[in-house]
Amino acid sequence: MADTKKIIDKLANNDIKLHEIEKYTSDIDEAINIRKKFIESISVGELNHVSNYSIDMNKAIKKNIENPIGTIQIPVGVAGPVVINGEYAHGKFYIPLATTEGALIASINRGCSTISKSGGANVRIIDDKMTRAPALKANSIQDALVVKQWIETHFDEIKKEAENTTAHGKLLKIDPIIIVGRHIYPRFVYSTGDSMGMNMVTIATEVALKFISKNTNVHIVASSGNVCVDKKPSAINLIEGRGKTVTAEVIIPEKIVNEKLKTTSKAITDVNMSKNFLGSAISGSMGFNAHFANMIGAIFLATGQDEAHIVEGSLGITTAEEINGSLYFSVTLPDLPVATFGGGTRIETAKECLEIIDALGTGKVHKFAEIVAVTVLAGELSLIGALAAGHLARAHQELGRG
Ligand code: NAP
Repeated sequence: MADTKKIIDKLANNDIKLHEIEKYTSDIDEAINIRKKFIESISVGELNHVSNYSIDMNKAIKKNIENPIGTIQIPVGVAGPVVINGEYAHGKFYIPLATTEGALIASINRGCSTISKSGGANVRIIDDKMTRAPALKANSIQDALVVKQWIETHFDEIKKEAENTTAHGKLLKIDPIIIVGRHIYPRFVYSTGDSMGMNMVTIATEVALKFISKNTNVHIVASSGNVCVDKKPSAINLIEGRGKTVTAEVIIPEKIVNEKLKTTSKAITDVNMSKNFLGSAISGSMGFNAHFANMIGAIFLATGQDEAHIVEGSLGITTAEEINGSLYFSVTLPDLPVATFGGGTRIETAKECLEIIDALGTGKVHKFAEIVAVTVLAGELSLIGALAAGHLARAHQELGRG
């Protein structure tokens, strides 16, 4: 047993750092408790809930967290069942969603039941890649062009170097290679199996860069040069795609639109045009959608995805059209970085939630991406339907404040 008081005094006097507590005890839960007690000593409250956890911190501290003091708890609910007619996801699914936004799951649930009653959602993966684009610098524009050409003509050798670092990662292309003055941004594009792939592609690209700099007159400024584009909204990801690019659609007979959504196809297409297209265009938004981020956020948190990628997953376009007396409704997600292996999917709660939809581990990432896209479809459909019927505020009043 470590001497808790002595360690807390040392922390208070700055004699040791927060990450050094583990040097005084091999019991990780004891170290967490000491760190928690120290933080309580400087907090205006207690950490009774944060310190209550069941996940295995011995594992989490190796790959997922530094300086742990416990966990947070976000309520998890389920929406569904939703019928999915995908290439990888077939059948009925109950979707795990973590949120504190009252009315969100009820709304997604309404979308799920509308989709299911209409025969289900079609969904397909259009593209699958993870990118890393370093910032390089040459002496002049001419030299930058020489480097660009060298990379283009030596792709096979660069690919071999990069792939030496990984069994699952494959370098598909280096494209585009953008030049700005004497600065060069080669966008390395990989397939990453069932992992989201950021660690994998960063390690692989760093080795490839050493090879490039050994053979050309180029300076490596940074292993990420913001052309990737990781964790920021960007036009390049909207157009070229990043992570999984997925699209999902449903055709809803007018009778079901009336019964389930209490509105008409015409009203829904009007709202979609006015809000998601014109409103987004005039405001310079990159998300031509109503609230992808709500569904992406809730399913990412429940299933251990990298929460900062919610910003990328929220890019995309919702379409609504009237076709032969039915509503055609679709969502397209160009930039969905997801995993069923590695990263936060190692955490026990994430594993359990992924298991609800049988999407944990090897060979499951495409199925998971399809389920995420259909969840987004359900949430979009319900919100646009509520706006068209004019009862959005009432739902929030009753469910969010009730
Ligand atoms: P990871 O947790 O580092 O694990 C991925 C590794 O698992 C792969 O490299 C692969 O090893 C192995 N693996 C085993 N079975 C696999 C399978 N079926 N499919 C794919 N890989 C398999 O995961 P990551 O996805 O590379 O990185 C995710 C983490 O990166 C997250 O925690 C995220 O927060 C963090 N992140 C990092 C950066 C960064 O710049 N480094 C940026 C954003 C996020 P082999 O490679 O040997 O095949």
